[in-house]
Amino acid sequence: MSKDWNARTKMVHGGSRRSQYGEVSESIFMTQGFVYETAEAAEARFVELGDDEFIYARYGNPTVRMFEDRIAAIEGAEDAFATASGMAAVNGALMSILKAGDHVVSSRALFGSCLYILEEVLARFGVEITFVDGADLDQWRKAVRADTAAVFLETVSNPTLEVVDLKAISEIAHAVEATVIVDNVFATPVFSRAIEFGADVVVYSATKHIDGQGRCLGGVVLGTKEFIRGPFETYLKHTGGAMSPFNAWVMLKGLETLDLRVRAQAESAEKIANALEGHEKLERVLFPFLKSHPQNEIAKAQFEKCGTVLSIDLKGGQEAAFKFLNALEICIISNNLGDAKSIVTHPATTTHQRLPEDQKTLLGISPGLVRISVGIECSDDLLQDILGALDAV
Ligand SMILES: *Cc1c(COP(=O)(O)O)cnc(C)c1O
Repeated sequence: MSKDWNARTKMVHGGSRRSQYGEVSESIFMTQGFVYETAEAAEARFVELGDDEFIYARYGNPTVRMFEDRIAAIEGAEDAFATASGMAAVNGALMSILKAGDHVVSSRALFGSCLYILEEVLARFGVEITFVDGADLDQWRKAVRADTAAVFLETVSNPTLEVVDLKAISEIAHAVEATVIVDNVFATPVFSRAIEFGADVVVYSATKHIDGQGRCLGGVVLGTKEFIRGPFETYLKHTGGAMSPFNAWVMLKGLETLDLRVRAQAESAEKIANALEGHEKLERVLFPFLKSHPQNEIAKAQFEKCGTVLSIDLKGGQEAAFKFLNALEICIISNNLGDAKSIVTHPATTTHQRLPEDQKTLLGISPGLVRISVGIECSDDLLQDILGALDAV
């Protein structure tokens, strides 16, 4: 594969491995294990694994490897390891880097399960965590110390879509040799330049845009060959978070159309955000590419386009938000994002329900807030659906 190909070409051809049949569509190698011609060949493979050699699907599998090579090529990473879910990826990245006594600095606005790993699991094993407001560089500067082993952040936060200055935070972290781990779901592999901006380890929930059609769970961790095939692979292969070959095949097919889908979704999201800004029923519209967004400049410098998700805050709190949700005809009420279908979520009563009230306030998760993940439907229809539902409020 040529390194000069554009990402969109790599999404179609990157990592392809063909069997002796020369199949067009990637094969699903639905096998747990692999046969060795001789006892000597088995012994040799356990001593050293050559290219295109596999031992056991928990360690690696040809279909899974195709997905890993394809996403690594797209992201501009040396290597990648696929996992059973996004959370297996986040957990593996943190667990394979950290040990008791280490210090971690993390932005506070995190996906709930990521917060659980940091606050509950890692803390139990003697890792000290300092949480900061991700958008406030002074807080990062004050929190990072000589013994900080890692910083963890979401490039764009959920559901309030705060953008962190990845380049600046990477410089702060690298000054003390801390590893920068980025949960990059909202930026998407299409608009991400996380490695160029200083990230050492990039994590995706492939469940979101990469599948993009709501079928499978999956995750992936990207980084240097030394990290991925060293501590990360060792941790993952022994703790059982491997991706199923079937799911890897779904994700490979998802990557083929990722650029087309995500660009169309991002264009619609921007159009809808622009059309809704200033609407009389709305307190605010949150979308990083709106001029009114507090980190608009950083978003423009960091991303070519900003994602497929916007959030709106309805005047009239939860009652208004529920009326709006119930009046929608195209957008479905669910909690995934990045899907081909437009999905609306009320974070305060679902994804972020368990957060204490003061944390919700701190994170801007107000009772009227609705997250809209924009799908691939016709944007005129979506806008009409949303405006119609606002009228019903
Ligand atoms: C969905 C999501 C995860 C978890 O991914 P799963 O595939 O559901 O395990 C982690 N981080 C972010 C930002 C997410 O959106």
